[in-house]
Amino acid sequence: MPKFTFKGGIHPKDGKSLSKHKRIADAVPGKEMVFPVSQHIGAPAKPLVKKGDQVLRGQMIAEAGGFVSAPVYSSVSGTVKSIEKRRVATGDLVDSIVIENDGLFNEVSYEEADWRTLSREEILARIAKAGIVGMGGAGFPTHVKLSPKDPDSIDYCIMNCAECEPYLTSDYRRVIEEGDKVTEGLRIILSLFSGAHGIIAVEDNKPECIGKFKKLIREDTIISIKELQTKYPQGGERQLIYATTGRKVNSSMLPADVGCIVNNVDTIYAVYNAVVLGKPLMERIVTLTGDAVTSPCNYRVPCGMSYTELIEQNGGFKADPGKIICGGPMMGFAMFSTDVPVTKTSTALLAFEKDPVSEAETTPCINCSRCSYACPAGLIPGRLSDMAEAGDSENFVRNGGMECCECGCCSYVCPAKQPLTQNIKTMRRAELAKRRK
Ligand code: SF4
Ligand code: SF4
Repeated sequence: MPKFTFKGGIHPKDGKSLSKHKRIADAVPGKEMVFPVSQHIGAPAKPLVKKGDQVLRGQMIAEAGGFVSAPVYSSVSGTVKSIEKRRVATGDLVDSIVIENDGLFNEVSYEEADWRTLSREEILARIAKAGIVGMGGAGFPTHVKLSPKDPDSIDYCIMNCAECEPYLTSDYRRVIEEGDKVTEGLRIILSLFSGAHGIIAVEDNKPECIGKFKKLIREDTIISIKELQTKYPQGGERQLIYATTGRKVNSSMLPADVGCIVNNVDTIYAVYNAVVLGKPLMERIVTLTGDAVTSPCNYRVPCGMSYTELIEQNGGFKADPGKIICGGPMMGFAMFSTDVPVTKTSTALLAFEKDPVSEAETTPCINCSRCSYACPAGLIPGRLSDMAEAGDSENFVRNGGMECCECGCCSYVCPAKQPLTQNIKTMRRAELAKRRK
């Protein structure tokens, strides 16, 4: 089978063997659960409960604040303690519903359905009601993504099973343990687009996943597997679309503009749960790993549980971490406190004894061009970084700075340890904010 890929990218040490062979463990939440009303892109959800209310597991506690929004569900039964601002992983303060967990996990009943008998509208309504958002980290409401202007123009529904970020293994475990439900979730999504073909995109360092999917789609004529060359950022939306279909997307386009819809593994699993079982999104898989972690593994974590409790259940850190990252090492961000809740978009917590990035000494650029060769967007990161530092937004935009996907490849390969991604990201965000005004 040919190996599909894109131009540029890097091959960092993947660190996946720390957690990939262990079965997903169930995390047990403690007394206090925190549910931010903004766990997605779009309007914040509006609380439906007040202090003192009793809630059940699976109960909607905040409704969608608009079409581009998503409701929030309680993952435990208990009592609403307060609605107040609480810190989230990014460090921001967000309105949150705080629930005292009674430890009983009394649950609402769910309405199961045979999805093949449901209309397109009914399927989308079940996905919207379940509060599903892009669980790879983006947090875009899934019912919106699955409602493009012209559904008939969608040729490909792509399952992003690349999991190209080093250390992350949650999608891998999900496929190994519940690949049948993930595949059925893809079939449900395909039913929304007449004439669309399903693509399961997997990097070639996951032969077990590829073998599993081959068995699961044996009878399918509209789903195929594309083995991707193992390379970061193979799972980036634009790189994935290009590698699997040859179609190009730029920063002013949506994947739907080139006939593609991309969803990650856990999002597709959540679609199965919502449409077939009637269950809302209230838990997710989180990879807890790194050399400072006692027993690296994947946990099934109820949303709202604090990372600190998760670490304690794992036996605490085995060494003082020099760096804690929320998400993958390439695109995640440093955490200053673990006393923040796991949300719908939490993918991983990584803890390392050392922080090589902050220890590295920056030296002048030696014009080696390594950053340009590594850039999957075909940019000249060294030059863009200089423009960003000089505040030259005009030239930054003219030279394609807005096409940066913030993958971090340029910083990774730079022998001078220039903060390229950081500089480019800062200017890009400033320019995006300017355009929104
Ligand atoms: S400029 Fe942007 S897209 Fe290119 S390598 Fe750097 S971070 Fe990645
Ligand atoms: S990789 Fe670093 S040293 Fe080399 S050209 Fe780019 S910025 Fe300069």
